[in-house]
Amino acid sequence: MIKHPQRSTVEVVICGAGIAGISAAYHLAIKHGIENVVLVDERAPLSLTSDKSTECYRNMWPGPGDAMVSLMNRSIDIMENLAHESSNIFNLNRRGYLYATADPNRIPYFKRFAKEANELGVGPVRYHTDQPNDPAYTPAPAIGFEDQPAGIDLILDQKRIRHAFPYLSEKVVALIHARRCGWFSVQQLGMYMLERAKERGVRFIPARVEGVEVVGSKIQAVHLRNGGMPITISTRNFVNAAGPFLKEVGRMVGVELPVFSELHLKISFKDHLGVVPRNAPMLIWTDPIRLPWLEEERALLSESEETKQLLKELPPSVHTRPEGGPDSDILIGLWAYHIVPVEPVFPFSIDPRYSEIVLRGLVTMIPGLKVYIDRLPKSVVDGGYYTKTRENRPLIGKLPVEGAYVIGALSGFGVMTACGAGELLAAHLTGSKLPHYAPAFVLERYEDPGYQKLLEDWGESGQL
Ligand SMILES: Cc1cc2nc3c(=O)[nH]c(=O)nc-3n(C[C@H](O)[C@H](O)[C@H](O)COP(=O)(O)OP(=O)(O)OC[C@H]3O[C@@H](n4cnc5c(N)ncnc54)[C@H](O)[C@@H]3O)c2cc1C
Repeated sequence: MIKHPQRSTVEVVICGAGIAGISAAYHLAIKHGIENVVLVDERAPLSLTSDKSTECYRNMWPGPGDAMVSLMNRSIDIMENLAHESSNIFNLNRRGYLYATADPNRIPYFKRFAKEANELGVGPVRYHTDQPNDPAYTPAPAIGFEDQPAGIDLILDQKRIRHAFPYLSEKVVALIHARRCGWFSVQQLGMYMLERAKERGVRFIPARVEGVEVVGSKIQAVHLRNGGMPITISTRNFVNAAGPFLKEVGRMVGVELPVFSELHLKISFKDHLGVVPRNAPMLIWTDPIRLPWLEEERALLSESEETKQLLKELPPSVHTRPEGGPDSDILIGLWAYHIVPVEPVFPFSIDPRYSEIVLRGLVTMIPGLKVYIDRLPKSVVDGGYYTKTRENRPLIGKLPVEGAYVIGALSGFGVMTACGAGELLAAHLTGSKLPHYAPAFVLERYEDPGYQKLLEDWGESGQL
């Protein structure tokens, strides 16, 4: 029997029900009262990248300019409001990010970093230098997010470092404790926004977006396939929130998006000996690492070009945090020690050495974890793609086809940005007043010769 395409008309079609597409739908329906918004995804909501993240947030991002910090601060404001109205159904905490160095030569960098963060709007810097007039250092509570200091505690006082964080390496000489940071359940936040959006008429259609009809440079319709069933939806507005498939879906409207992808993995394992306290913040080692191998391990690793790399100095930023409530003993660990641009494919293959390398890297920061090296604990490894622009800033706004929009290139910051990015996308689509940081994220920025010049000499990307 020939199946005839179903046809309907809606106001907005959003391709992708990850955290970005859901936030866009939420803001369009709830904040702007747009009826007839449709979210389309060939997978279950939030199930491709958004549920694989470390679920962390921070307002500390580098320049140039204050756009990233402003977007993050706005996103965190929205998350805090949602936490208030939902009795914190998604367990937003405010434990902070703790950046550690064992290199005394990096202390001036830590100071500059804290000063720049303050200038960009991260918040005040409190110096802890073992002086009588030092400000108080307030440890972060394990749960909750209210009544906490903002900004940064820069801790150079060795006694305070050992006292507050006795499980860190004795070699640590300086810590930055960034305070408007923590983590939350992305699944719970996403489902909360999706349920609220559905109450206001947003519909979820389980289908694949196969094509977008553009006539006279205007969006006309979106072609879907649900199993064998073709569906055509007439619409004037199409939002590309396709995560790792942003480029592919961009081509459906005839726009080449300047993004690429990297595969990032994370491990979860049981810290059954309780080496890391359950109330610890996010812990990040900021120095490069040379892993200590035994002579026979060294010989084995030097046999192949690929494993030889592990004998060299490896990049900084191995990080870990406790996962779950007080009864859990799970730790999450990540280390992007070998990252190259790749085509996003699913399922992807996982380097069997990844868990061991992450654990070995973490031992540099938390020597007590060494007990697990001889008998490696069972670990679960998962992850997904950081789809990103070259300067690691998102794409949020209009595309050069009337009615086409993008919310993506959310790299390793998509869950923390989602609320602010969804609000911004909705403001673009409804023609509402845009915040001062909006121009920093539109695709047209690449047409500006001044921006191109800036790109040639871009500083830190902020990626962990
Ligand atoms: C290991 C790891 C750790 C991370 N840690 C953090 C962190 O701590 N904090 C943070 O903020 N971010 C983190 N991130 C990044 C964050 O997870 C992503 O930026 C975010 O999830 C991207 O959300 P998204 O909605 O854009 O994409 P996705 O969640 O991938 O959603 C895109 C959706 O589009 C759908 N789709 C695509 N093409 C089509 C089509 N043609 N038809 C129908 N549907 C389609 C897909 O099925 C998918 O469901 C991490 C990522 C990884 C991999």
